[in-house]
Amino acid sequence: MFRSKVRFSYARILNEFQINFAYEFRVKAMTMRRNIISLFIWVTIVAIFAIHVIISRKKNDIKTISERSITEVKTTILERTESENIEKVKNNPMKDVVLKTETTKGMYSRELNDEDKDLVGLKNTVNFTITTTTSKLLRHGDANLHEENLKTEIIKLKNENNRYKLSNNLLMQKEKQLKNLARRLASKLKGKEGGLLPKLDPSLPWIFAITPTYSRYTQKADLIRLSQTLMHVTNLHWVIVEDSSYRTDLVSKLLVESGLSFTHLNIQTPPHMKRRRGEKYNKHHRGVLQRNLAMKWIRENVNIAKTPGVVYFMDDDNTYHRKLFDEMRKVHHLGVWPVALAGGLRFAGPKCAKGKVTGFHVKWGADRSFPIDMAGFAINLRLLIKEKPEVIFESTAKRGYLEPTFLEQLTTLDQLEPMANNCTKVLVWHTRTESPKESLKGEKEMIKMGRPSDPSIET
Ligand code: UDP
Ligand code: MN
Repeated sequence: MFRSKVRFSYARILNEFQINFAYEFRVKAMTMRRNIISLFIWVTIVAIFAIHVIISRKKNDIKTISERSITEVKTTILERTESENIEKVKNNPMKDVVLKTETTKGMYSRELNDEDKDLVGLKNTVNFTITTTTSKLLRHGDANLHEENLKTEIIKLKNENNRYKLSNNLLMQKEKQLKNLARRLASKLKGKEGGLLPKLDPSLPWIFAITPTYSRYTQKADLIRLSQTLMHVTNLHWVIVEDSSYRTDLVSKLLVESGLSFTHLNIQTPPHMKRRRGEKYNKHHRGVLQRNLAMKWIRENVNIAKTPGVVYFMDDDNTYHRKLFDEMRKVHHLGVWPVALAGGLRFAGPKCAKGKVTGFHVKWGADRSFPIDMAGFAINLRLLIKEKPEVIFESTAKRGYLEPTFLEQLTTLDQLEPMANNCTKVLVWHTRTESPKESLKGEKEMIKMGRPSDPSIET
């Protein structure tokens, strides 16, 4: 019984083993089959990719080879010496090729000078070669050209091509130079050499700025600074009056070159109205006759119906903010504002509130009716030309009273229009250009020694 039990168990184990073995074998076989299939798929993908790469490379090679050979053949055939080509073209029924080249040449010759024509000639030689040999290529084909010839001709053509590029650049440079010359010539003819065009805006009132000026070492420096400020101002006409018996070259040239809109006048202050040697300070007002002459010109020449605007007395050595001009443009009657470095103070001028002048901030001459500096007011043209056509500056006015005696004739305190943000902004400085004593003294000494600074150099 025990034995049969054992035998029985053995057979069972064997049976179980067989079953397990068969099962495992099946599983392994399946896994292997799966692996083989996926390996096969991968191999196929890689192979397809490799084939694709090889094919596309081959294609490219073929393309570049064919392109290169086409270009080589083309460039080779394009290369011919000029004389050879001329001969061929002479016998060539395609005469229009020659005609075309000549037309190009003619077109350039009309515009350029001799030097430029050389460059054009060079350009045309290359063009000529290319055009004529292209026609040759079209007519005869490329059958009978030898390899050695081709190589040397390629080199020749490359050289010629470089020369062509160079000459083309030179031509472009010359063209630029010519254009600049033409522009400068045109502006010279208009008398505006070196300057900017005046800024104009038909919707804005005009400013007639009156400047007396006189000859001195620092005159040009002051006028250059002033004119270059005015280049920023729209609708400004500069009436500049020289204190001289004639209009000087220095001022004339400066005005023309500034490109500004201007009127250039002159009137000499007679000696008895000028400070004499030894006088401690100037009893006389400066620039009076000049300002009066300018007002006369404005009254006679400006039509206020066509040209509304204001008049401003703009001495030549002050410093002006360009915003000041936009302020004064708004003046309807007589506008006022403070002036820095005037009246013995950091700034002096009207005190204003709610659009009215309520008093004056002054140290010196507080009793004056209008303690206002020449640079601190502008007058509407209507008031000056139409309503008060007789008013001028009085050269006999007491020292410091030139402005008040003038303004009294034009307006009253309560009519004044405060400008520059109710007179709280300073937009003009009563700067004064110091006389260059060292330079004057040194130059005098050099003149005595017969070695002055070159008088042909303007300063
Ligand atoms: N001015 C003039 N003749 C002279 C002195 C001055 O025409 O003999 C001009 C000067 O060029 C300036 C204005 O008058 O435009 C006022 O002169 P300055 O600046 O010397 O006076 P200040 O600075 O003392 O007001
Ligand atoms: Mn001054």
